[in-house]
Amino acid sequence: MEYQYWNPEIEKMKRPELEALQLEKLKTAVGWALRTPFYKERLRKAGITGSGDIKSLADLRRIPYTTKNDLRDAFPYGLLSISRDDVVRLHASSGTTGTPTTIYFSREDLKRWAGYVARCIYGTGCTKTDVFQNMITYGLFTGGLGFHSGGEEVGMMVIPSGSGNTTRQFKLMQDFGTTVVHATPSFLLHVESIMRAEGVSRDSIRLRKAFAGAEPYSEDTRKRIEELLKIDVYNSYGLSEMNGPGVAFECQLKNGLHLWEDGYIGEIIDPETLEPLKDGETGELVLTCLCREATPILRYRTRDLSSFYTEPCACGRTHRRLRRITGRTDDMLIINGVNVFPSQIEEVIMAMKEVGNNYLIVLDKEGVLDRLVIKVEAGPSIFTDDARQMNALKEKIRKTLQASITINPRVELHESGSLPVSEGKAKRVQDNRPKDL
Ligand code: AMP
Ligand code: ZN
Repeated sequence: MEYQYWNPEIEKMKRPELEALQLEKLKTAVGWALRTPFYKERLRKAGITGSGDIKSLADLRRIPYTTKNDLRDAFPYGLLSISRDDVVRLHASSGTTGTPTTIYFSREDLKRWAGYVARCIYGTGCTKTDVFQNMITYGLFTGGLGFHSGGEEVGMMVIPSGSGNTTRQFKLMQDFGTTVVHATPSFLLHVESIMRAEGVSRDSIRLRKAFAGAEPYSEDTRKRIEELLKIDVYNSYGLSEMNGPGVAFECQLKNGLHLWEDGYIGEIIDPETLEPLKDGETGELVLTCLCREATPILRYRTRDLSSFYTEPCACGRTHRRLRRITGRTDDMLIINGVNVFPSQIEEVIMAMKEVGNNYLIVLDKEGVLDRLVIKVEAGPSIFTDDARQMNALKEKIRKTLQASITINPRVELHESGSLPVSEGKAKRVQDNRPKDL
């Protein structure tokens, strides 16, 4: 097979050179970090007051971990290292509307980010002759504009179709000869089922490839999408704290995701002891961003579980490969690609006086898409035979939740005391979704 490299010198760089490059970039990133109020304080406590204190890659371990809570505490500008006048964009983690974790970009940051996404896209065999339909949410979520800019960088014609509106997606595919799409794996399956239901023939579209990410999925699910749609599906991993997409991506061998180690330093740690693990061992992925000056983030605990392959990849790239993410070390739920913490739901429900003390978060599949059902006990004063009053409360809960978590849930009201009360630690989440979609 002939492989395509966007930046062959970097992608196939010998490990010692790659590590020397990482060290240089780490020093620069520490310099950026020291200009933020948050890291100035954090790093000083760890005895790091200048980038000269980083003498080898091993010194990375002197830097304390950064968590999502740290980012929240530093909101809004505690992690900003440049003048606000030089910021040209901000993004936030999906599904958060309260105090989000906000990431700022300078013009150079955006260029670098687009370069990493372009590297991913080009590495799957795409060229400027491709037509790319980006079927993912635009807005604060990084998947939209991130892939959009990467696609433009490759020179493809980019159709910013956004997610949803499946019938219109087919029309765009047919009208413009779309060859590659980006979507969540569940949306791809949904597209396929609607295609069948609406009698859209496979021959009427020219689709060849899809980039699928933003949520975990299994190898079986990939195969299923590939067979049903007769396309190649590539796994795409990223997170807003590390820019968004373009962090790790599959090459044409589709056997693990190359982490772009000239842009990110990856470590796998034991989530309990926080000690680094060896390549091959499964643990929590910790990432250091080397390519964003406006919001430098060092040793970020992603909470995602993975491991590094020990073997180099036959494609010739020297950047280590991650296994597909198998789960998380916290209770974050990913619902149709949107991140939701059970605590966000609890906050909304418990703030309503009409609501009783118990509730349950149930996740199911409706066709191939995730469905969120919130079962709530109504307070005694509300649970009456007055259907109008009940419906009004249901609607109020639904609307407030949707405004907070960006997902439209189905709300069920139950009589006070009727939901199961667990002994000991309350079990409020019932995830009935099958592992394979
Ligand atoms: P966000 O910051 O909103 O982009 O969400 C990032 C999170 O989405 C990651 O930390 C992962 O938990 C999840 N995620 C993104 N891409 C993938 C993928 N390819 N496989 C599994 N989980 C993913
Ligand atoms: Zn490879």
